[in-house]
Amino acid sequence: MKPPNMTCPAEECGPECCVVRHGFQKTKTGRRRRYRCRGCDRTFTARTNSTYKGLHCSSTKFDLVAHLSVEGMSQSAIARVVGVARSTAIRWLDRMTERARVFNERHLKNVTVRELQADELRTFIDSKKNEKWVFAALEVGSRLWLSTVVGRRSYRNTEALFRDVIRKSDEIAFALLTTDGFVYYQRVIWNLFGPAVLYGVVQKTRREDRVIRVEREERIGAHWRIREALLESEDSETLNTSFIERLNLFIRHASSYLGRRTLCHARDEERLDDHLALVQWYYNFGRSHAALRFGREVRTPAMQAGLMSRKLTFRDLFVLHIVEMFQSMEHEEGVRKSSLVIDSVANLLEEKRVGDAA
Ligand SMILES: [Zn+2]
Repeated sequence: MKPPNMTCPAEECGPECCVVRHGFQKTKTGRRRRYRCRGCDRTFTARTNSTYKGLHCSSTKFDLVAHLSVEGMSQSAIARVVGVARSTAIRWLDRMTERARVFNERHLKNVTVRELQADELRTFIDSKKNEKWVFAALEVGSRLWLSTVVGRRSYRNTEALFRDVIRKSDEIAFALLTTDGFVYYQRVIWNLFGPAVLYGVVQKTRREDRVIRVEREERIGAHWRIREALLESEDSETLNTSFIERLNLFIRHASSYLGRRTLCHARDEERLDDHLALVQWYYNFGRSHAALRFGREVRTPAMQAGLMSRKLTFRDLFVLHIVEMFQSMEHEEGVRKSSLVIDSVANLLEEKRVGDAA
């Protein structure tokens, strides 16, 4: 019998460890293959070390909870629809968001930023008196949602947003930046980027929810350089904040915490921040973007930015770290062997390796 294509999850064991089949684990819905490591004598299943670990139901149900929550459904509604206790849904969501945060951190990097838009949207924690802001920054060409910061509308948070953008990008010197007229943007951008950057402001005056006047102002960089950047841009003809406004709309719809008239304001800032990590993952990696249609293919922002070769599913998110673990250990062989891992994930790795070689 062919040895199982499995790697021991224990830290001291590597992918070289010999793993054998070890009967089955009984589950509610059937049985799950169990394995034993000959090195450390531990037994495990494909779920060990994945986000599904210890789950007493199907992974499909778990995935569904993730999906509903990024489509803007509240925790109580999810619990009712899926048929689990609210406390269970909350516990699962905590695990998912934590996982999404790690994934974002690991994969949103070396992004080429040519055109960046930043904006902030307002929300409340607990009561109308406790106003909070969600800052977001978007790379226009790929529609990649790079960074987000939740907190007060302060210099510090504005700076944190752009520092995060710098950390995740490979080059930013000649980027075109556009924001609204919020006072701290210009100071932060000047302090972080200096005169090399091109920066413009779009101010909209509203009356009764309707935009009655749009003012565009070039703030940093010579007029001809900004014009040149706009001519090169495939997306913008004039200074604008349309793309980030579209993202803000998406964020508002995707997070039940942010709906304008809703019962479920985020209990605390942390919970909102956590949930946004999952929403950000979904937007960048798990959802085709209508503006990124190329013939038959509709790409995700991560594909357009060259970070991923295909659209990911929640399942990928929840099992991928097993592969990542071995990647980071640089066990090339291990990567091939450790297919605890669903086929799709294995494909992804193959594609990634081809990409690396090229
Ligand atoms: Zn072992």
